[in-house]
Amino acid sequence: MTLKIGVIGTGAIGQEHIERLHNRLVGSTVVAVNDINLDQARAVAVRLTPAARVHETGQGVVSDPNVDAVVVTSWGPTHEEFVLASIAAGKPVFCEKPLATTAAACLNIVNAEVASGRHFVQVGFMRRYDKGYRLLKAQIDNGNLGAPLMVHCAHRNPSVPEVYAGDMAITDSFVHEIDVLRWLLDDDYVSAQVILPKKTRHSRADLDDPHMILLETAKGIRIDVEVFVNCPYGYDIQCQVVGEDGVGYLPEPMSVLTRKDARLSHEILQDWKLRFIDSYDVELQEWIEAVKIGEVWGPTAWDGYFASVTAEACVEAKHSGRIVPIKIGQRPAFYDRKPKRAAA
Ligand code: NAP
Repeated sequence: MTLKIGVIGTGAIGQEHIERLHNRLVGSTVVAVNDINLDQARAVAVRLTPAARVHETGQGVVSDPNVDAVVVTSWGPTHEEFVLASIAAGKPVFCEKPLATTAAACLNIVNAEVASGRHFVQVGFMRRYDKGYRLLKAQIDNGNLGAPLMVHCAHRNPSVPEVYAGDMAITDSFVHEIDVLRWLLDDDYVSAQVILPKKTRHSRADLDDPHMILLETAKGIRIDVEVFVNCPYGYDIQCQVVGEDGVGYLPEPMSVLTRKDARLSHEILQDWKLRFIDSYDVELQEWIEAVKIGEVWGPTAWDGYFASVTAEACVEAKHSGRIVPIKIGQRPAFYDRKPKRAAA
């Protein structure tokens, strides 16, 4: 069976997902698209998936009887509407992060999915599909490092565009650590603190950079993450898990060591897309396989909600200078269910 997919949002990542879902991955085809910029949607359809129907609205994609499942890659503030519509239509939905732009909106989605009694929603936290993170998680899960005690991370970008402003270092960049570390440690966060070190001269007047973010988990693990988005040298994701018996490091991306011009050197990636390009393929291929048997193997709506609650606590911690407790109600038993193949 070929899964017929409708994509809402034909911007940067929408185009990449359409290309992989339609041309590269196994078992899926893109049959419908929409973007608020209809000309762009039409041009993308012509270039990538000529037979697809171009709908005037995102709701039109969801209600298209030819669409089996929906991919939401539109602007964040539209996610809640399209995910809720997909649940109401009884269609599986893959929503790029964030699940919604507020914790309250994420909770609306959780409540709607629980009330439906079926698992429909997966959130696009692709780092769980990165080979390196999976190898590191295996070291933790098989007990090789002993119980984790501390985690030290860095999230560095060479630069960010003008539209990257306000608290996006937390809500757009650090949100990936929020999800992947919770999954890596199989633990929940209980508090957040944000420290602003001396500001880099490479940032703009209206953008704090770097940030030091400290999280504490329910098991007492301490996490520190440097988020530095104008660090000119490259895109660099570091993660080091300190356990009772050993230390595990996230593998570096593969690159050739060269000896040249009196230097011994490795290339450092410049673009986040290249760092996680394989993860997107694995993520969506597993999503296709799970959808075909009516399951969700990846990050759930509850995970999206938890990420949003944690991001909001971090933003509050940044602006108040206080340690902010992270309070979240009991996870609904609905999300305890172990799918047949818990891939991520
Ligand atoms: P983008 O290039 O701005 O694309 C978003 C598209 O959505 C734009 O074409 C926008 O049109 C369109 N749009 C806005 N409102 C809409 C509506 N009501 N109905 C239909 N389309 C609408 O942004 P992007 O970089 O692709 O990001 C899209 C989403 O993916 C964001 O939530 C982002 O956080 C997420 N993302 C995730 C990753 C990841 O690593 N997992 C990476 C990149 C992006 P206009 O431009 O005309 O407003």
